[in-house]
Amino acid sequence: MGVLGVVPGQIGLVQAMEVIKLILKIGKPLIGRFLIYSALTTGFDVMTVARNPDCPLCGERPIIKALKGDENGDGCGV
Ligand SMILES: [Zn+2]
Repeated sequence: MGVLGVVPGQIGLVQAMEVIKLILKIGKPLIGRFLIYSALTTGFDVMTVARNPDCPLCGERPIIKALKGDENGDGCGV
C-alpha cells in the first residue's frame, strides 16, 4: 500500500516536539511508551513498553556501561 506523502511530515512534527520536550525538560516525553498513529481515522494510541531485563545497557546484567554523549545517564531510555 505504501505511505502517503503527508504522513512522514506529520510524524516528523511529533518527533520534533519530543526532542524539544527532552531538551527543555518539559512535559511528558514518550519514554517507555510507543505512539501509534492512524492517518485514516486521525487517531493516536499509546502503548506502554516494558523494560527488557536482557537489555545490554539497562537490563539486569548490563555489559554496556555507558553511551557516548549520554551525559544525563538516561541509558536507552526505556
Ligand atoms: Zn535498555
